[in-house]
This record gives sequence, C-alpha cells and structure tokens, in this order.
Amino acid sequence: MTLVDDARKGLLTTFEKVALIENIEPRKLCKLVASGRAVIPLNVKNSDRERKLCAIGEGLKTKVNANIGTSPMVFDPEGELRKAKAAEQAGAHTVMDLSIGKELRSVRRKIIKGVSIPVGTVPVYEPFVNKQVADVGEDDFLKSLESHIKDGVDFVTIHAGVTRETVTHLKKSNRILGIVSRGGSLTARWIEETGLENPYYKEFDTVLDMCREYDVTISLGDGLRPGCIHDASDGAELSEQIVLGELVRRAREVGVQVMVEGPGHVPIDRIACSVRSMKRIVHNAPIYLLGPLPTDIAPGYDHVVAAIGGAVAGMHGADFICVCTASEHLALPTEEEVREAVILTRIASHIADIVKLEDERKWDDEMAHARAELNWSRQINLAIDPVKTAQIHARSKGEDVCSMCGELCAIKQWLRRDES
Ligand code: SF4
Repeated sequence: MTLVDDARKGLLTTFEKVALIENIEPRKLCKLVASGRAVIPLNVKNSDRERKLCAIGEGLKTKVNANIGTSPMVFDPEGELRKAKAAEQAGAHTVMDLSIGKELRSVRRKIIKGVSIPVGTVPVYEPFVNKQVADVGEDDFLKSLESHIKDGVDFVTIHAGVTRETVTHLKKSNRILGIVSRGGSLTARWIEETGLENPYYKEFDTVLDMCREYDVTISLGDGLRPGCIHDASDGAELSEQIVLGELVRRAREVGVQVMVEGPGHVPIDRIACSVRSMKRIVHNAPIYLLGPLPTDIAPGYDHVVAAIGGAVAGMHGADFICVCTASEHLALPTEEEVREAVILTRIASHIADIVKLEDERKWDDEMAHARAELNWSRQINLAIDPVKTAQIHARSKGEDVCSMCGELCAIKQWLRRDES
C-alpha cells in the first residue's frame, strides 16, 4: 500500500499529521495526493523514524530544498553533513545529497541519518562516478536506483526524459550551453556513445515497481533544462517536458507519487508562461524548479538572482524551489552560503505565498504592528532570520529608536504626536 493507495481509499491517518503542519483540511490534502496534485515524500523504510514531513503541491506553501554533496575535488563528508544540518536549521523542507566524490553510499547514509527532513538523491551519478561512460551498463542505472531506495532516500531524481529522440531535438537546437544538468549530460553522452535508449525511460515500469515497493517519490529530472536565458523555452526543453508528462501519467496509474523538475534560466517576462505551460503539460503534477535565474551576468550573486526568479515562479504556480547559492556556477558552496541561500529562497517562497495563500500575509501584518510599536524584540522574533536581525540591530545600542534616524525616527514622531 502506498500513500496514493491510502489517499484513493480515503484513509486519512497519515494525512491528518501532515495536514496539521500544512494548516489544511486532512480530507483536502488526501484528495490532492490522490489526484497527484501534491506529494508527500517519505520512504516507508523511514516511516517509523521521526521525520519532519511536508506536502508539496497545489494549494500548499511553496517548499524549499537545499542541495549539498561532495565533489571529486572536495571530499569532506562531515562538512557536507554540517551543510545539510545548517540547511535544516535554516528552514529547508528537504535536502538533496548530490555527492559525486568517493564512497557515495556511506555519504548518503550519513546524510539520511543526520537530518530529520526528507532526503533526495540522483541515482544516475553513481555508475558514472565508478566507471568510464562507455563501460556503464544498462543494469547499472537500475542497480544504483535500487541501492538508493533501499538506503532510505525519500525522493529520487530520475532523468527519464533524456531519450534518443529528445537528444536529437537538442542537437538540432541553437543552444549556447547545450546541456547543464549533470545527470542529463551524463545520460545524453551515454546514449550517444552506446546508441542505446536511456534505461530509466526504457525500463520505466521497473523504475515504478522499485519506487512503489518503498513508496519513494519520483522527481522527474529536467535533463535538458536551459542553462542560460538564451536557451530558454526551446524545442529540446519542450520535447522533454512532453515525455515527462507521459511518465507522470504512467506513475499515477500505478500509485507512485511524482513531481517534475523545471528550468533553470528563464527571462523574467517568460517565467509565468513557462510555469503555467509546464503545469499543463505535466498534468498539474507538483513543479520543482532551480531558481529560475532571470539573468546570467551575476556570478557571486546568483542566490539573489534565483530568489527573484523563484518569487515570480512561485507566484505563478511553482510548488518547490531548490536553493541556489552565491557559489553557483563557480565552486562548491560553503556552509554559510548554503544557510544564506536557504533563507533567501524561503523569502522568495513567502513572497509567492502571499499571492497564493490567503493567510500568508498575517506574518507581514504582525511585523508591521511590531514596527509601528518600535517593539524590537518582537521584530527580531518575527524575522525570517532572527540571528542576523538581532546582530544588525545591536548596532543601535538598545535605544528605543534605531541608529538610522535617531530621535528623528518617523515612527516615534508619529507615535508622540499627541504629546506636544
Ligand atoms: S529610526 Fe528611522 S529607520 Fe529606524 S525605525 Fe525609526 S524611522 Fe525606521
């Protein structure tokens, strides 16, 4: 029995717990999961452990994922675990271990054990870390997936939309950057070198059987996502989305939870159209975006760029946003960069949720009241990043006003208008 089976039978037990966190009626959440418009990532292997569950999808708060993971150049599993914990502490709803250094299995087990939020991974990396592209066999793709699922990951990115046909569309495109998804690029190169079809696509029924057994949520990866605004919304991206839409339908038929990943880099005036058309193509499955980044010229500030794009995308229906750190496109991020990126993405999500959800602006109104009363401790408690808020305000040395205007504080002048 999967969560979708429960939802379709109207069994509310699991939904009651999550609905309470999500501030939604259990029956409504149950219907959303039954229809595939929302997912609750949780591997049954982890169901007896205390997990901070979350629901992702329509009518729910926009959720935030943080990526961590070792690289071939920086192998520090303890450091990556610290980043995962920092992300959880900063309010990320999920974390993905994208490790491609050594000892992938022990690193992911460490991350799964070390955090209480759901954990996702990308199984396609593993065969390519251990072998040359041409030596990777079809069964390596599935063996890796099986190992990730059995280790207890709650959701897996599967780049099943990178097929012989969609790669042909890509080769005909006039892209500047080709493929920028790591999993997409490895898979496309494997297809080119072997002439074989992507095993995750060809054997998608087996993928579904594996995920169903442990009730693991599939995140259909956007292996052909645009890597710069020039490449956005082209035929290659669209051809992959059409394949993903078909795979969503097949996953739903057998009761496997599924969401779909999307771009990437998109000019800001095309984000609304991009999100809405994607939602339609993938049958209203939850949409999971990296950013999107609406400009390519700000390395070092891509956490800000992605937050701007994420707020617009969230407002128009993106359900799940992956953080982009200041190190994006440049280097492996530091722990502080991961923490800061989670906060920025939470801000973007909240801005979107103010538009999407009726009650969301109550938080802003509370902050406005605290400001109107010059109640500094309340402002700090209400802040999305109370630590940074307190640190900066400390420079005002405990005065009732802040050091920006001193006694000419506009709020104080207005508060005292009746005193003179
Ligand atoms: S001193 Fe100026 S900046 Fe500070 S709270 Fe008053 S009006 Fe705002």
